[in-house]
Amino acid sequence: MKIKIGGFFLTSYHRHAARIFAAGATLFFSTITLYAFSINPAAPKGGEAFVFSFKPSGFLTYEIIYDSKTYITYLADNGKREIFLPVAIESSGEGKVVVVKKLLGIKIAEAKIPVRITPREIEVVRLRPPSEKMRDSKPPLPDERERLLASLKTVTAANFRDSPFIPPLEGKRGEGFAVRREGAKYSYYHKGVDISTPAGVPVTASNSGAVAISSENFNVTGKTIVIDHGRGLLTCYYHMDSLLVSEGEKVARGQIIGTVGSTGWSTGPHLHFGAYLQGEAIDPLWLIEFTSTTK
Ligand SMILES: [Zn+2]
Repeated sequence: MKIKIGGFFLTSYHRHAARIFAAGATLFFSTITLYAFSINPAAPKGGEAFVFSFKPSGFLTYEIIYDSKTYITYLADNGKREIFLPVAIESSGEGKVVVVKKLLGIKIAEAKIPVRITPREIEVVRLRPPSEKMRDSKPPLPDERERLLASLKTVTAANFRDSPFIPPLEGKRGEGFAVRREGAKYSYYHKGVDISTPAGVPVTASNSGAVAISSENFNVTGKTIVIDHGRGLLTCYYHMDSLLVSEGEKVARGQIIGTVGSTGWSTGPHLHFGAYLQGEAIDPLWLIEFTSTTK
């Protein structure tokens, strides 16, 4: 479902227009059209994402600010400019997308578009002592966390993906996305979904992309693959038994990239499948569903 919010823009625009007019800059008036901003889905949920799009004016460039981060926009097939924005897991209430319009690199106006965030219900599970012990006995290697986090924040300008995303394998659903794991010593969100199968079952790329990480030896995530789908969207595959692609290699959606295992912090064969958008973890099953209903 989509909603269009032209009215908010006009309100905001008139305020800015008044200010700019007062400053003597009248040029701005000729660039005004009835912009319509779209937010899809209309009320995105914590741990999910939304496509923010609008019809651009040829002379202007745009910067988007959401949740204190600044983004560039991309040209979509329909001639609109768009950006796929993540909603933090604990987000709720009314957020704002700020559209900064620039002419020749100089800010001439901004519009503030409200976004109603649907709060996410958080399921809490107890982290049992054996799990905590495993974390103690196998601490992350010195640079593995940094390497993984840096990779998951990659924003490549190219768009490698085809739509929609697909499940990387069929299996029994284990712990879901954004389950809060609380133990005596460790507390954190489970930032992916677990899918259980016997070891050795093939794992396929959820979408086309470039292999950003294919690592044999991470202590926490075990044998690990990260695929960059472009424009800040990546998927990750942890605890694998074998890795069949190398870093830098281009992979196609549905291509076998490795097999299910139980490497790293794992207590039985399963795949941990995750998705990251602009460095923020989002629900990968939601991503599959959402991209199957949009273009
Ligand atoms: Zn997991």
